[in-house]
Amino acid sequence: MKTIGYAAQSAESPLAPYAFERRTLRSNDILMEVLYCGICHTDLHMAHNDWGWTQYPVVPGHEIVGRVIEIGSDVTRYKVGDSVAVGCMVDSCQHCDQCRKGEEQLCREGNTNTYNSPDRITQDITYGGYSKHLVVREEFTLRVPDGLDLSRTAPLLCAGITTYSPLRTWNVGPGSRVGVIGLGGLGHMAVKLAVALGADVTVLSRSKNKEAAARALGADRLLVSADEDAMTKAHSSFDLIIDTVPVKHDLKPYVPLLDVDGTLVLVGQIGPLEEPNTIPLILGRRRIAGSPIGGIAETQEMLDFCARKNILPECKMIRMDEINEAFEQLEQGDISYRFVIDMASLKS
Ligand SMILES: [Zn+2]
Ligand SMILES: [Zn+2]
Repeated sequence: MKTIGYAAQSAESPLAPYAFERRTLRSNDILMEVLYCGICHTDLHMAHNDWGWTQYPVVPGHEIVGRVIEIGSDVTRYKVGDSVAVGCMVDSCQHCDQCRKGEEQLCREGNTNTYNSPDRITQDITYGGYSKHLVVREEFTLRVPDGLDLSRTAPLLCAGITTYSPLRTWNVGPGSRVGVIGLGGLGHMAVKLAVALGADVTVLSRSKNKEAAARALGADRLLVSADEDAMTKAHSSFDLIIDTVPVKHDLKPYVPLLDVDGTLVLVGQIGPLEEPNTIPLILGRRRIAGSPIGGIAETQEMLDFCARKNILPECKMIRMDEINEAFEQLEQGDISYRFVIDMASLKS
């Protein structure tokens, strides 16, 4: 079927309207009308080919919320009219050990990304959520629970699950001492989710500027990372620190903050690390780890949890034709909310 979206044609060109075809529904596919799409830092990197693997034209977008408007003949989980969502992946092998455990994000054969990834059957490059319509197999479709505000749900599909998954992996619950570095799209979600799980939450920031914002999100305190005295006093006082900073930085000041068996988990793609010091790692049996998004079952669990606890991202709604300005603002950084595109603003 014909649809319309916004694409970048090269690393230098801005995003612009782009007409293209969505595949004819396979028996296990649903067709959704996209209502909202969040803007993730990855979209910016991919549009600009910052990682060197972008295939043009690229239609970004992997925080997608919409409504089912057609279903394939074998679809059983969804019906026309359902509110649904799609995150960062749209397919995986479905038979390896990781897929069978529900960890499709770790598929041994690699999962199929929502955009800029070859379809497993046709090899056509996938196009993301900056578009009117999306076709996706039902196994990779999430249900938006009643009670979640559709217009603010989209960022949960990447920023939400990327921070929820490590909180669950490291068993955060009442009494856990959690630190969050960075208070952007990911960081602000990490705070809200950790607070809702019952943790004692500290935001780590270079200055006191974000103290009020951190507290408004539910954090118990802000620790100024430039304050050496305060940092020394905080040694061995965290079970888990989630580092959401999306640019290169030194991890050395943060490792000693971990208690015995504590973990510093990186969720931002920052490339090679500065040389970490092994002494605090060895002596405190501390770990530096990484974590991607979660599997489909865990993503659904996160959506249901957010509906139950009424957790929603801080969002700023924009029109589709404001995308290039939003990218610029995102590039300049220091935004503690998520831009969300109102897809009704995209006229065919
Ligand atoms: Zn993302
Ligand atoms: Zn697999």
